Amino acid sequence: MNPSLTRNFVIISHIDHGKSTLADRFLELTGTVEKSKMSSQYLDLMELEKEKGITIKMQPVRMSYQWKSQIYIFNLIDTPGHADFSYEVSRALAAVEGAILLVDATKGIQAQTLSCLDFAKEQKLTIIPVINKIDSPQARVEEAKSELAALLKISPEEIIAISAKDGINIEKVLEAVIANIPPPDLEGKELPLKALIFDSHYDSYKGVIAYVRIVEGKISQGEKIKLFAFNAETETKEIGYFKPALTAQKEILAGEIGYIATGIKEINKIRVGDTIMSSSREIESQDPLPGYKEPQRVVFASIYPRDPKDYETLKKALSQLKLNDAALSFETDFKKTLGQGFKCGFLGMLHAEIITERIRREFGIELVISTPSVVYKIIDKKDKENFIYSATDWPSADKINTAYEPWVRIEIVTPTAYWGKTMEVVNNLSGKNIGTSYISSDRLLLSYEVALREIITGFYDRLKGATQGYASMSYKNIGYREGDLVKMEVLIAGEKEEAFSKIVPKDKISQDGRALVKRLKEVLPNQLFSVALQAIVGGTIVARETISSKGKDVIASLYGGDYTRKRKLLEKQKKGKQKLKGRGKVKIPHEVFLEMFKK
Ligand code: GDP
Ligand code: MG
Repeated sequence: MNPSLTRNFVIISHIDHGKSTLADRFLELTGTVEKSKMSSQYLDLMELEKEKGITIKMQPVRMSYQWKSQIYIFNLIDTPGHADFSYEVSRALAAVEGAILLVDATKGIQAQTLSCLDFAKEQKLTIIPVINKIDSPQARVEEAKSELAALLKISPEEIIAISAKDGINIEKVLEAVIANIPPPDLEGKELPLKALIFDSHYDSYKGVIAYVRIVEGKISQGEKIKLFAFNAETETKEIGYFKPALTAQKEILAGEIGYIATGIKEINKIRVGDTIMSSSREIESQDPLPGYKEPQRVVFASIYPRDPKDYETLKKALSQLKLNDAALSFETDFKKTLGQGFKCGFLGMLHAEIITERIRREFGIELVISTPSVVYKIIDKKDKENFIYSATDWPSADKINTAYEPWVRIEIVTPTAYWGKTMEVVNNLSGKNIGTSYISSDRLLLSYEVALREIITGFYDRLKGATQGYASMSYKNIGYREGDLVKMEVLIAGEKEEAFSKIVPKDKISQDGRALVKRLKEVLPNQLFSVALQAIVGGTIVARETISSKGKDVIASLYGGDYTRKRKLLEKQKKGKQKLKGRGKVKIPHEVFLEMFKK
């Protein structure tokens, strides 16, 4: 292998701008995957990814390409596009030298275009600007070009216009990759091994398979290696390239991308961002590669099996999902009304949605999911710091000194025509406007600082709805801030339903309470008897709704005549209702929890 002919790069873009489709064209053009075996979005391997059309797990691929009588090696990493996975994106970017920045010509620059470009700039990557979907009748090629040119401060002629779908100008992109992206820096190639883990997956035979970029030295099959963050040692079971199927090799050299089958069975030991070193290096005396971070879980929700018998299956499901997803956390959780379940930590809302959907689908368990919560920080009266992962664990007001909650900075890109609609949605947040600027003559960028709590449940849906899908959003964490917060609980037919408890700011108690019971009324099916829905704070009712009974009209068939019979029937029905009431609980279908979870 001639290292000067290697190019390592990623494709970055806002979601749906065509990364996976462009990767498909590369696979075809380089002959990596035979055309007959090609299915669209080839690198999106999971069923759910295909269905949702999003990339959850990145799949690297090594391709070779002949150009001007030289054979080049391309290592491409397809990155997930959603904000929840931004840490994974940042590590993937740290593993390469260049990035193809893809912008959908029908949409223009979107919020995540800006956030991933920021990441790429932080890693000092060479950017190849590309406009996609020029085949589409809605494409506004010139506008998209000049917008992107202005953003990157380059001339519009430097931007390549392609159709990933129809395979137009794909060679031009590969030529730009060859011409503009530098080959890997091989200064440390004689040093002992140092490799960056940018992803991993679990294999029941080979243990955790780490996806790595060899930064210094090389790795050989069977070599003893160390993991820096966990100070664990192991021997490689197999090493190799992604073609895209795992293909074993004897060694992987500095500057290359490949996998290391570690034989380690605990996914926790192999963390994205960690450094793999040669055993001959003393861990104490060596600096790890920069950028390692613990996965940051910002959303917590408790999950219970609808049927308590499924508890063990749920446990198995979570353990299995965790094998391929170190960012997911869970621990046992018991609630009187909900039984035995698990408190789970997620990177964000999309992550939570994907995990619960997979449990339902792949393990066939019906779930009850508590309203997701951010992680609150409370300083109690004894000056002790406590983290609260679920509203049900919120202490009573007399125990709280100060409460803190996580804040985020959101960036919204919206057409000027939808500026008013966007403001209507944003003005409902009790956040702080940081600034507004034009990214082109007809589109605006709005920055806002807001409590994460306010946007984890349905904010993005509301924004999309108000702007007919034209506004886009990205967010990043900016730390904890003080909040004036209380716990709101829900009574259904007088019984507390823990799963619907939530934390609200004091000045929104009645507004949030009303919204909560109103929403519950909409999603709860009618019962045979009328049901009171109440929101309470500190024992006081702050909002109330009633679901009227859908009791059968037992006397409808009796015209006139026998009044005693009518009365008897009505009395019988009344007794029946009382009996039902006496039996107490309203059965809440699974879908109700999911609906409430969404909103
Ligand atoms: P990703 O989220 O960035 O990976 O985007 P995908 O590759 O999954 O593409 C998102 C959608 O855009 C899919 O429905 C693709 O078929 C479509 N798409 C991708 N490239 C093109 C293109 O060049 N032209 C048109 N018309 N549609 C495209
Ligand atoms: Mg994709």
